[in-house]
Amino acid sequence: MRRSRAFIPTSKEAPSDAQLASHIFLSRAGFVTQTAAGLYNYLPLAKRVIKKIENVVNEEMEKVGAQEVELSFVTPADLWAESGRIEKFGKELLRFRDRKDNMFVLGPTHEEMMVDLVRNRVNSYKNLPLNLYQIKTKFRDEARPRFGLMRGREFIMKDGYSFHASTEDLDREFDAMEVAYKKILTRLGLDYRVVEADSGAIGGSGSKELMVIADSGEDTIAICSSCEYGANIEAAVRASRKETPEAPQAGFNKFQTLDVKSIDDLAEFFKVDPYYTVKCVAKKLIYEDETEIVLFFLRGSDDLQEVKAVNATDALDIEDVSEEELKALGLVPGFIGPLDQDKAKHVIDSELKNAANMIVGANELHYHYVGADLSVISEVAYFADIAEVNEGDSCPHCEGKLSFTKGIEVGHIFKLGTTYSEALKAEYLDENGKAQPFVMGTYGMGISRLVASVIEQHHDDNGCIWTKETAPYMVNIMISNIKDETQVAVAEELYKNLQEQGVEVMLDDRKERFGFKMKDAELIGFPYTVIIGKELANGNVQIFDRRTTEKTPVAVDEIFNRVMALV
Ligand code: ATP
Ligand code: MG
Repeated sequence: MRRSRAFIPTSKEAPSDAQLASHIFLSRAGFVTQTAAGLYNYLPLAKRVIKKIENVVNEEMEKVGAQEVELSFVTPADLWAESGRIEKFGKELLRFRDRKDNMFVLGPTHEEMMVDLVRNRVNSYKNLPLNLYQIKTKFRDEARPRFGLMRGREFIMKDGYSFHASTEDLDREFDAMEVAYKKILTRLGLDYRVVEADSGAIGGSGSKELMVIADSGEDTIAICSSCEYGANIEAAVRASRKETPEAPQAGFNKFQTLDVKSIDDLAEFFKVDPYYTVKCVAKKLIYEDETEIVLFFLRGSDDLQEVKAVNATDALDIEDVSEEELKALGLVPGFIGPLDQDKAKHVIDSELKNAANMIVGANELHYHYVGADLSVISEVAYFADIAEVNEGDSCPHCEGKLSFTKGIEVGHIFKLGTTYSEALKAEYLDENGKAQPFVMGTYGMGISRLVASVIEQHHDDNGCIWTKETAPYMVNIMISNIKDETQVAVAEELYKNLQEQGVEVMLDDRKERFGFKMKDAELIGFPYTVIIGKELANGNVQIFDRRTTEKTPVAVDEIFNRVMALV
């Protein structure tokens, strides 16, 4: 491509709301433009990067026997009602009616559509397993679209779905997909980690996320210092503490604790470790047609993990509550304890089951109980894992300690089991001629989010640094002085020869200052720029390596071979 003809509107200005390097540089370097919140146009450079990522995905999917299809983007709302997800997805689903007044949804993911495609078409165990995928635009009316391509409303996803006659076969496919996804990310040049993920309310037995490691990531992941364990904080678990702080010794007693409301104050007041105090976190749980105030109790040393809280209550969403709302229920904010179960629903952290020597709110203004033994409520209370792991907690699998890091979720693989096939009555006949629901898996990967992720991991202050498998062009040939006929001739020759070899090459033939063109090349992030300048008079050109920013002189007769060796 000749740069003079290319549509690459680079700019010095980043969008005013851009915080992430990927958002700033993909905008400034002319890869994308924004149309509205969460909506982007992909310009020629971005299209090339997307196609490259898609090719890698297609190649790896081909190797594991997955077949590409393409389902309609507009999906009938009836299917979403059949699965029950029309409520679960809530406002993220963009719905509209056609001229015949039928309701439709812009596909945010295609489980329902894929089950509908397969049901009544695949009828026998003999035709299983089957793995179908597509790479397609998705639409989710995200509450907070942000960070450019990272969280769009319209975005490109690779979504795959597998159908099996047994959970064993699903397990095999799930493992194969994990391997394939890892290969894809490795080929793209990304540093990533596969972590255990929240399986959500739809359940399912296995869920893993592929996280690209980046400080800008929206997800916190807990990773073990000594084994492979890694989990999204939403799903991370820990081994119970082996060494516990010294327990306060006191008989069961009510104590006046004037104005002692916070856990810190309480621990200070009694001179005990917060581990022996019980904290109450009150939340409003949102259900389809109602809301409920629920009291979550945990050790004072722990925090509520909201995703676990939602899963424990089967709610759709979770919100904060005001002190007034609590008082209206007859509760005493700051002094709420778990021993009185009458006024609101309680969910108690599993680690508190049978905990002794605890200090708990007495449900009375300015009073706490000491020496509380929670085994008295073990029969009546509802216990669940609702605590967020802390850095330094013990790994659930080994002796290691957990630490936190940030990640970008670029992929999610999930064992669905029969959730969707049962809801949508999608069945096959087993060896005995008996109808069975398909056992399913689902495998998503964020293609447009991957474009941004590559830049989050590969950039410097001057712009993008594309990896080999993602670069829109591998080589940029820079004519330093366009008026110098020899420079032009050498550049044109190299351009032609590289093109003939199938190298993706850009020829910067613009009548612009050298400094300006170099800045532009750095911003766009071509892995290599061949600079044809003054040194040509001495028989030399230079290769600029975008990653190291080093310029290496190369004899002009050698340049073709050197570039070929590099690419
Ligand atoms: P997130 O927690 O980031 O919202 P999700 O759990 O909703 O992601 P999935 O439903 O599992 O995501 O979708 C599969 C993949 O699609 C994700 O792993 C991610 O890479 C990508 N993806 C999801 N939402 C968006 C979005 N709004 N913009 C860009 N990519 C997205
Ligand atoms: Mg989401």
